[in-house]
Amino acid sequence: MILKEECIFCKIVNKNIPVDIVKETDNFIVIKDINPVSQVHLLIISKRHYDSVLDAGGEGEWNGGNEIFRLLCALAEEFKVKDKGFRTVINTGSDGGQTVNHLHVHFMAGRWFGWPPG
Ligand code: AMP
Ligand code: ZN
Repeated sequence: MILKEECIFCKIVNKNIPVDIVKETDNFIVIKDINPVSQVHLLIISKRHYDSVLDAGGEGEWNGGNEIFRLLCALAEEFKVKDKGFRTVINTGSDGGQTVNHLHVHFMAGRWFGWPPG
């Protein structure tokens, strides 16, 4: 499945919902989170619909993983947070706190993040 009709992130990827695209690569778009938890809170959203890491990380032809790492480096550079660092999160399933069932990575920076997370 590439796009899922009722999925909010598919609508964003498909530009059915207007949104500012921070960055775009072959496999991902980067947007600002609508409900930011820090000064910089971006979402790296896969262009293809995957319900979660469990859907995307199995055996198959898709290999967007390397691109995620390159994107994290590029975003750290662009948002000037290489020195202070940032938090990267992929919520998966109900215990993981996932609320949108379309693969995405949170990129958060601009404050100190505690550990363990709540
Ligand atoms: P998660 O809980 O990991 O599934 O994260 C979903 C994230 O998507 C939350 O941080 C929401 O604030 C964010 N979000 C939901 N709808 C939108 C939207 N239309 N535009 C930008 N961010 C969104
Ligand atoms: Zn989707």
